[in-house]
Amino acid sequence: MALIVQKYGGTSVGTIDRIRNVAARMKRTRDEGNQVLAVVSAMSGVTDNLIKMAKEISENPSERELDVLLATGEQQSIALVSMALQELGVDSASITGRQAGIMTTGSHTRGRILNMDPTLMQRFLDEGKSLVVAGFQGVTPDGMIHTLGRGGSDLTAIAVAAALKADVCQILTDVDGVYTCDPRIVKNARKLPEISYDEMLEMASSGSKVMQSRSVEFAKKFGVVFEVRSSLNDNPGTLVLEEHPNMENVVIRGVSIERSQARVTITGIPDEPGMSGRILGALGDAEINLDMIVSNIAHDGFARHSFTMHSSDLGKAQAALKPVLADLAPTAKIETEAGIAKLSAVGIGMRSHSGVAATMFKALGDADINIGMISTSEIKIAVTVEEPRIEDAARAVHDAFGLDKVPA
Ligand code: ADP
Ligand code: ASP
Ligand code: MG
Repeated sequence: MALIVQKYGGTSVGTIDRIRNVAARMKRTRDEGNQVLAVVSAMSGVTDNLIKMAKEISENPSERELDVLLATGEQQSIALVSMALQELGVDSASITGRQAGIMTTGSHTRGRILNMDPTLMQRFLDEGKSLVVAGFQGVTPDGMIHTLGRGGSDLTAIAVAAALKADVCQILTDVDGVYTCDPRIVKNARKLPEISYDEMLEMASSGSKVMQSRSVEFAKKFGVVFEVRSSLNDNPGTLVLEEHPNMENVVIRGVSIERSQARVTITGIPDEPGMSGRILGALGDAEINLDMIVSNIAHDGFARHSFTMHSSDLGKAQAALKPVLADLAPTAKIETEAGIAKLSAVGIGMRSHSGVAATMFKALGDADINIGMISTSEIKIAVTVEEPRIEDAARAVHDAFGLDKVPA
C-alpha cells in the first residue's frame, strides 16, 4: 500500500463545504488502496484574523503568545476535517504538531524544524487510520509552541512526507500547478509540467507565494519530490524535483513579483575598511531582512550603499541606522523610497545562455518602465520598479521571453 501525503491550504478548507470536499478526496485516495495523511492549514482568513485581534490588544504582542494564539487556527481545521471523514465512515484521527513529533528550534513565529519523531503517526497509520495533521506548528524540546512562518503548512507537509518516507507528496491548493507567473496577474501564464528545486526556491523567495520558500529548501535537502496541484479538480499539476539536463534548454522558467518594497540609500560614507560591516551589522541586530544590496563609490570619493527591504521595516531601519551613522560618519545622509516593487526572472538555463538581462531590460524600456536597482544570481535577474507599474512589468517580461508558449 502506498502512503500519500496531501497538503490542503487555507482556501481548500475555507468553508464547511470545502472541508467536506477535502474529506471526500481523502476517502477517494484511500478507496483506491492507499494510506492517506493530510496536512491542513487554518481556514482562509483565520490566521490573519487572529493576528488582527492580537494587534488590537497590543501594538507589539509577545511572540510567545502569538504562537500560542496562531496555532489554534490549524487545530480547528484538523478536527473539522477528521469529523467530516468520520461522517463518511472513514476511521481517522486529528493530530497536532506536537503529537506529530515536530520538534523545532529558533525563534517564536519563525521556528525551524530540528527533528521529527513520527512514532504516533506511524502507530495510527498501522492501525488503519487516515490522519489529519495540523500544519504550521511544532514544539521546542522544552515544550513551547512554535509556528513555522507564514505559509508554514507547506513545510509541515514536506517534513512529514520525509519522516514517514511517503510514496507521494501532493500540495493541493487553489491553482492547479506552478505557473510561469502568478495567473492572477498574467492571464496567459502557462502551467509548468515540472520545475527544479532551485528554480522553485528562487521563485518562492522572490514573491511566488504558491510555496513557502523554506519548505522548498527542506524538500531539496531531503530529496522529497512533490507535486503542486488543485484541490478541486484532477488536472495534472507541477512536479518539483532535482534538475535534469533537459531543463537547461529553457532559459527563463518563470517570473515573480514582490510588492511593498522600500529602498534605503546611505551616501557620504568614508571609503574605509569596516564601514559596510558596521552598517549591515546594525540592520542585522535590528532583525531587518535585507534583500538587494548595491554599493559603489561616488565621484566625490565617498561610498554609497543602497538596500531594499519590506516597506514595513523602513521605520525600524532608519531608527537602527541613525546612531551608527552619527558615530561612523558625520558626512553620511540617509535617503529612503517606499512604493517600489521587485520583478525577478528565474531559470537554470541562464547559466548557459547569454543576453538574458539585455532582453529583460529592453522589454521594460519598450514598456516605458524605469528600472531602479538591479541584482543578479546564477539563476535569477531581479530589478526594482515603481510599484504601480509592477503588473505591466511582469506582463512585458513574460511576453519578451515567450513564456506563454510551450518551449520547443
Ligand atoms: P494555500 O492557501 O493553498 O497555501 P496560497 O495562497 O499560499 O495557497 O498559494 C496559492 C496562490 O499562489 C495562488 O492562488 C496564486 O495566486 C499564487 N501564486 C503566485 N505565484 C504563482 C505561480 N507562479 N504559480 C501559481 N500560483 C501562484
Ligand atoms: N495558517 C498559516 C498561514 O496563514 C499557515 C499556512 O496556511 O500555511 O500562514
Ligand atoms: Mg500557502
